[in-house]
Amino acid sequence: MELELMVCGECGCAFGLNQMHLRGLKDSHKLFYCPNGHQRHFVGETDREKLERLQSRQTGQLALIGKTYAANRRLKVQVQKLKANTPKKSK
Ligand SMILES: [Zn+2]
Repeated sequence: MELELMVCGECGCAFGLNQMHLRGLKDSHKLFYCPNGHQRHFVGETDREKLERLQSRQTGQLALIGKTYAANRRLKVQVQKLKANTPKKSK
């Protein structure tokens, strides 16, 4: 079993957590305790959360690109209509 060395931020006591357990704690942000009973939990964003945040931002950007593209197409059609309706200048 691979143990990850942890150090309690309260008392500085070192203890080991197995990696599966540690991953679960990081993912869930659940509370755990150092051997001296200090309450600890991981507050940082997990890789999965980071990925989800980036993906949702990307989805938003894609939607925006789609809207811009549609608006651009509508403008092109309008320009073509205007051109078609404008009498050509004769020399
Ligand atoms: Zn402690």
